[in-house]
Amino acid sequence: MNVHDSEKIAGIFSEAGYCETGGTDDADVIVLNTCSIREKAEQKFFSELGRLRKAKKNNPDLKIAVAGCIAQQKGKDLFRRFPYVDFVFGPDNIDILQNWVTRNTEHATPDMAGRTQAVALTDNPDYHVKNLPVKRAGRFRAWVSIIYGCNNFCAYCVVPYTRGRERSRPGKDIYNEVKSLAEQGFKEITLLGQNVNSYGRTFPEECDFPDLLRRIHDIDGIERIRFVTSHPRDFSEKLIKAMRDLPKVCEHLHLPLQSGSDKILHLMNRGYTYEDYKNKIDLLRNNIKDIAITTDIIVGFPGESEADFKQTATALAEIGFDGIFAFKYSRRPGTKALDLPGHVDEKVKSQRLSKVLELQESITYNKNKSLEGKVYEILTEGKSPTDGDRLTGRTRTNKIVNFYGEQDLIGSLVNVKILEAKPHSLYGEAVQTPH
Ligand code: SAH
Ligand code: SF4
Repeated sequence: MNVHDSEKIAGIFSEAGYCETGGTDDADVIVLNTCSIREKAEQKFFSELGRLRKAKKNNPDLKIAVAGCIAQQKGKDLFRRFPYVDFVFGPDNIDILQNWVTRNTEHATPDMAGRTQAVALTDNPDYHVKNLPVKRAGRFRAWVSIIYGCNNFCAYCVVPYTRGRERSRPGKDIYNEVKSLAEQGFKEITLLGQNVNSYGRTFPEECDFPDLLRRIHDIDGIERIRFVTSHPRDFSEKLIKAMRDLPKVCEHLHLPLQSGSDKILHLMNRGYTYEDYKNKIDLLRNNIKDIAITTDIIVGFPGESEADFKQTATALAEIGFDGIFAFKYSRRPGTKALDLPGHVDEKVKSQRLSKVLELQESITYNKNKSLEGKVYEILTEGKSPTDGDRLTGRTRTNKIVNFYGEQDLIGSLVNVKILEAKPHSLYGEAVQTPH
């Protein structure tokens, strides 16, 4: 979501006549788009901002802006701690950059481009986030926002405080954006929201997430549709049917489990049990052949005993995810989990994280191995960043494959035979002409 927000920020600058520089030395403006989901992300930002003090000293005309979730949380505090910051704006206020940028170009005076902060969050479910210009990083795959904010208040999570209440984007705007992407040659779109399953909940007319998928599916030129993220509690049978019936919707689902212990899931305020989660996975696998499922896991949530942790390990073994993102629980300001008893020792968290990653590594490797000799459709994205002789792309199940093939395959769907699976990557060769 942050990456896509950065594309919007770049879009506004680009429209105002700015272009990207190779580094900070020749920049007129530097925007740090921040994430505060875990403490580590925050630390990274503060050390980066510290480094920019010198850049501002060398070039007093340089403007420094802080965007994203840390901007939202800290607001004016950032000006106090870092007097060389000129502009602070939250993820709900990216549109305000349009004013700032235009003023900046028309009258480049310190006053007009002076210190401003924009960190208002809206509670109004009818509030339409402005459609913003987007400068996309990719040429064939694009993100499309469909719902903003989050109402779930999971006990560990800062998102509802930094991105505000849930608001669905009008279906017409989404449709038009996807149509325009198709016209520009994009082949794959990923619909984006903290909980895409609650799309349309506040609309007067019936249009839920499966309905939206059906509408978008009709757009010629788009070959693949993905979405992140789904909340297990709201993941419905209707959606499973839509995924099954709509050929462009890819056979991949990211469904964050967080923990295999019902006690911890309850403390997290997730609204489902492990049994509920497993039943949904069974239904999904019975309906969609060979679907890849990935998840998020938090270890060391307050109150997590060794027995609770074992239940998470058991869940990983039982379900057999294609991949996981695993995190140590991180204290976040303002969240409910801060006040829970039984905070887990940092060392124990690290040990649990290592165990989870080790366990998953062998599961992923076995899954990868089982793909050897089979042929998959790949959307070719470009040259492999790690091996310039090969091309790279993804299967519909979202696995990255590096393969030998001609340059002119870039941007097309190609059938690739998997020759070798390694723990973290797949290698293959193109076996047919593109289609
Ligand atoms: N809206 C999405 C995910 C948002 S954040 C969802 O609900 O699934 C992405 C992931 O970061 C979460 O799934 C969770 O696993 C992790 N995360 C969020 N807050 C965290 C915290 N305080 N400490 C550790 N991990 C966290
Ligand atoms: Fe955070 Fe939970 Fe909302 Fe996801 S659903 S963004 S984890 S509060």
